[in-house]
Amino acid sequence: MSHASPIHICSQSPEVEGQFSAELASQSWQQTTQLHTAMGEPEVLRALAKTRLDINDFAALISPAAEPYLMQMLAKSEQLTKQRFGNTVSLFAPLYLSNTCANECTYCGFSMSNAIKRLTLNEGQLANEIAAIKGKGFDSILLVTGETNKVSMPYFERMVPLIKPHFSQLSMEVQPLESSEYKRLQEIGLDAVLVYQETYHRKTYLEHHLRGNKSDFNYRLDAPDRIGQAGIHKIGLGVLLGLEDWRTDSLMMAKHLRHLQKRYWRSRFSVAFPRIRPCAGGIEPKSVISDRQLVQLIAAWRLFDADLEMSLSTRESAQFRDHAVRMGFTTMSAESKTQPGGYADDAQQALEQFEISDERSVSEIANMIRRQGREVIWKDWDPALSH
Ligand code: SF4
Repeated sequence: MSHASPIHICSQSPEVEGQFSAELASQSWQQTTQLHTAMGEPEVLRALAKTRLDINDFAALISPAAEPYLMQMLAKSEQLTKQRFGNTVSLFAPLYLSNTCANECTYCGFSMSNAIKRLTLNEGQLANEIAAIKGKGFDSILLVTGETNKVSMPYFERMVPLIKPHFSQLSMEVQPLESSEYKRLQEIGLDAVLVYQETYHRKTYLEHHLRGNKSDFNYRLDAPDRIGQAGIHKIGLGVLLGLEDWRTDSLMMAKHLRHLQKRYWRSRFSVAFPRIRPCAGGIEPKSVISDRQLVQLIAAWRLFDADLEMSLSTRESAQFRDHAVRMGFTTMSAESKTQPGGYADDAQQALEQFEISDERSVSEIANMIRRQGREVIWKDWDPALSH
């Protein structure tokens, strides 16, 4: 991050009636924090005994009062995951199309003021990446870009039809778009969209998003509503654990999930658990979440929602991911390259967004998953079944 750069906070979109921005405006951060700090053993035991958990139960399970019950939570989480998803883990690869970005985010190596080489894949470079990823066996990919007008709808409309024929599942993690744009992307092959809010604390959000469109808190916050309105099959949420109190942020995200589930009940939902990782000019987390607390959070999410897809990236260490296979995850990335062109040409390392921690090959990870008694699948659903 460049703290020296001037701050150019984008103008803020208004709250929209019926969308989560309006709901969040009526929620107090402080009261949400009190919800989990007030939880004790009776609330934890009540949550553990229930089959349909509400926000209060989730607050109990992520509170310090639930720490002694971690093994019980994990056993239940593993059982629910097996019941709902079978004994499988889906593998996917992120495909970075571009690291050009017009935003300044304090925690990201792609921030516009970072002096790194920028690259947006052209058709030929994309074809090489697709061949390299297919060569590793993947059938499910996540398209990732920085956020800039240069890499927006016209680019996506050119590239998605080139990518889709090669993969049975296509997800996207790009700048927030309009509902009509999501609809258009769905028509040309998009199956899922991930938009991580990073933090639900408005002031902290503005402190970390210093410049560019991403500093518009409400516009980003309402992106999942717009994705739902477009009828996209799967919507992904996430907070960047460490920017704010991880328990309060997770509770806010649980409220966001319930808001969306009520309105867009045809869509599936996924959550991810990125923790702040070192990057060029990176920041220290404000609220550190330990490995044990992350395990508790993961189990709490599974107990809160048995149908939720949960995804773990290669930001986490090999050792953590080995244990995580049994915790309730349904999806994992493997052998990820976080720089555009990185699969076809490993020399592109200087461009990467963040350092990955689990650097094992995809076959090593697939073997690890099998050794733990779970089956590896390369696609987690058939698009033909969703229409
Ligand atoms: S987090 Fe996204 S929007 Fe922010 S600098 Fe990185 S790529 Fe750009």
